[in-house]
Amino acid sequence: MSAPEESAVRGSSAPSIIEAARPQDLPALDKLLRLQAVAALVAEHGHSLVAGEARALLAALRTQALAGALPLPSVEPESLAAALAQRVRQRLAPRMRRVLNLTGTVLHTNLGRALLPQAAIARMQALMAAPNNLEFDLETGRRGDRDSLVEDLLCELTGAEAATVVNNNAAAVLLTLAALAPGREVIVSRGELVEIGGAFRMPDVMASAGARLVEVGTTNRTHARDYEGAIGERTALLMKVHTSNYRVEGFASAVSEARLAPIARAHGLPLVTDLGSGALIDMTAHGLPAEPTPRQMLQDGCDLVTFSGDKLLGGPQAGLIVGGKALVARIKAHPMKRALRMSKLPLAALEATLQLYLRPEHLAQALPTLRLLTRPLADIEAAARAVLPVLQAALAPGFTVETVALQGQIGSGSLPVERLPSAGLAIAPADRKGSGRALEALCAALRGLPLPVIGRIHEDRLLLDMRCLEEPGEFIKEIGHLRMTGMRNQLSS
Ligand SMILES: *Cc1c(COP(=O)(O)O)cnc(C)c1O
Repeated sequence: MSAPEESAVRGSSAPSIIEAARPQDLPALDKLLRLQAVAALVAEHGHSLVAGEARALLAALRTQALAGALPLPSVEPESLAAALAQRVRQRLAPRMRRVLNLTGTVLHTNLGRALLPQAAIARMQALMAAPNNLEFDLETGRRGDRDSLVEDLLCELTGAEAATVVNNNAAAVLLTLAALAPGREVIVSRGELVEIGGAFRMPDVMASAGARLVEVGTTNRTHARDYEGAIGERTALLMKVHTSNYRVEGFASAVSEARLAPIARAHGLPLVTDLGSGALIDMTAHGLPAEPTPRQMLQDGCDLVTFSGDKLLGGPQAGLIVGGKALVARIKAHPMKRALRMSKLPLAALEATLQLYLRPEHLAQALPTLRLLTRPLADIEAAARAVLPVLQAALAPGFTVETVALQGQIGSGSLPVERLPSAGLAIAPADRKGSGRALEALCAALRGLPLPVIGRIHEDRLLLDMRCLEEPGEFIKEIGHLRMTGMRNQLSS
């Protein structure tokens, strides 16, 4: 069923070279299933899947035949068996696929955020196919608490008294508010009413949790007296939100946690900080921009800190809540905790990831997020140079390719303003006319590769940042497919 044959049949003006098949030329289902090649398919995958796909294939071909658009060779046994095998393969192929992230954003939410450390993958593999002590205390033989698997580690790494874990940080914030502020007021600065993307907006989360948001200050400036003036009988807590994906600059001021803590304490109110990313370690020690740590926030007087597992921490999706014992206990006792609890799969990965922090000397190698963020520029440039000639050859003459210095980002709302000096390739259409469409076509071709390649378009060029390409050979191999599928012709037309 190759394309030229189809169009030869379909085209009304073109003379019909190949005869069209009629519906009655198609075999019955059971006859199709008895073909030798199809019987092998049934032996491999079972009757249900193969018969179901065979039925769907015959229905589709019948529709085509009725329209007079089915070339006769398509009903040959070999063609039918091949088409069926292809359908079965497609049904079993994963929808969630690996891609090459050449966007320059290391923690890319759309591309799955943090890459799991090998240790975390090994831990899941070792544990998931068998029963485990998820909620079983091996010492007492009684029912255990799944949080206890990581609580000590989290306390050690943050200096907290207690900790609990849920599905993600959005859940951590929701649960904290639902447990501590139902029907009561939560005071937040107008400068911190963030939208994280994907429908996480602080005012909406507040409403879902049944808390009443009390906004204080202005977009650019909020003062301690604004918080103090808003505290009343119905106040449940003071909340700080890390403005993780934007920054107010210029005539701006916010009240730090250290400044707010004594005010909260004087009124007997908890101070809660949603840190967003929350690095567990001092990022500047790795030559990266400073990011507040949960430990620092607790030292500054916060009573509770929430942060994500799959941002700078570099682990699985998780929401971590650390802080005082009594408050954490109230959070854990809320019924919503049961609904938002972590599953054993990410929990195993989280424990293994947190244990990597016990060996800080190895962290920059063992934690992919940190490894990529601290990757030497010379390495990144070398990757760009390795790919350059191959890509150039594949895309000439329609496109020019050159190495360029780039500015990447950490991503996932971490350090929104700072840029990571990086390097990569810039691809520009040789012909400026229609360059937008040519670039879109190139992006689509790269996305269509067996291992899809994702870059970013900026000012009429496609930029491929090499920071996250640790094995240039993987990309080079894909470029081979780009040639084979004749993308070049398609692109230059
Ligand atoms: C990312 C982020 C969240 C949401 O965290 P998830 O783990 O994605 O649910 C909430 N608050 C802030 C400030 C964030 O940066």
